[in-house]
Amino acid sequence: MTTTGELQARLARCREQTAAGGFAAFVAGPGAELRYLCGHDVHLNERLTALIVPADGDPVLLTPVLERSLALASPVADLGLDVLAWAETEDPYPLIAGLVPGGRVAVSERMWAQHVFGLQRAGLRVTGGGALMSALRAVKSAEEVASLRAAARAIDSVHAGIERWLRPGRTETAVAADLHAAIRDAGHAQVDFVIVASGPHGANPHHEPGDRAVEAGDMVVVDIGGTMPDGYCSDSTRTYVVGGDPSKEMTAMYDVLRAAQQAARDTVRAGVSAERVDAAARDVITAGGYGAAFIHRTGHGIGLETHEEPYIVGGNHAPLAAGSAFSIEPGIYLDGRFGARIEDIVVATGTGIDVLNATTRELRVVG
Ligand code: ZN
Ligand code: ZN
Repeated sequence: MTTTGELQARLARCREQTAAGGFAAFVAGPGAELRYLCGHDVHLNERLTALIVPADGDPVLLTPVLERSLALASPVADLGLDVLAWAETEDPYPLIAGLVPGGRVAVSERMWAQHVFGLQRAGLRVTGGGALMSALRAVKSAEEVASLRAAARAIDSVHAGIERWLRPGRTETAVAADLHAAIRDAGHAQVDFVIVASGPHGANPHHEPGDRAVEAGDMVVVDIGGTMPDGYCSDSTRTYVVGGDPSKEMTAMYDVLRAAQQAARDTVRAGVSAERVDAAARDVITAGGYGAAFIHRTGHGIGLETHEEPYIVGGNHAPLAAGSAFSIEPGIYLDGRFGARIEDIVVATGTGIDVLNATTRELRVVG
């Protein structure tokens, strides 16, 4: 679990960013931002929970009275935060306005519009706080990198055991159900997604497992991820050939993909732009003749959410920071035939790259 010292440092940086942006306060709603700042993990719902981080003064956690004990059982207690509970008959939004009178506030961009409108009704001037928070969250501390590494190891262990579940004759849903259980058995608190895309389904990057039975000779894309008990996420894709040798065409295509994924990894270093990493993978795939079949960005940041800043995509000129954690996941999708993707989570460092996933990127034949 995230240490109190780490949470204090995050709150201090949030306060600095809030002041630097000219805001009276940052208002974090439930979800990754609240958990990032104070360790309190609560689902979005119609009753307002919010952490108010003033530019000047101490943070306050506002919670519905019926969830007060939940808040006090979280790291909030060790942080010594003021907890302000509002009763069912109260309007919580003026309570926030009272803490930042006449204030211009930045808010979590994933807060429900219902709550944003409530803040506005209470007289607050509301601005999206996405950039403010991503400036903090996109640079991982050593503690966060350790958490992401543990998540990567957990998901690696599932890929390493794939031959137990992925065999000819089994349906995608049956394989996916086994993978669900394996992801939890590997130490995840929650399964976030399981993609088992066999044969022609592999050409759909976000295929939902269905009742197609895996056939001998199929190429199968397996993209799996979950959330560890400390909140950090895993996400790794490997592509397999099941029950027979790959065709010449599959091998040729996969060789291009593997070279592209390697080229992107070779490009990573703090200071290099996100779009250069994307271009490194894309150039190899285009030179191999599959440019039109690589239909998505090369990667996404990862942390307390599976998808967060920085996005590894054309047009993102922002330089990677030492501590940027993100996926490198080029894919080639041949409509109606087959597809492949290779995905690792990596961290940019001052000298290069720290690759967190360690299972082989060779085209493994299983079953
Ligand atoms: Zn991913
Ligand atoms: Zn993935």
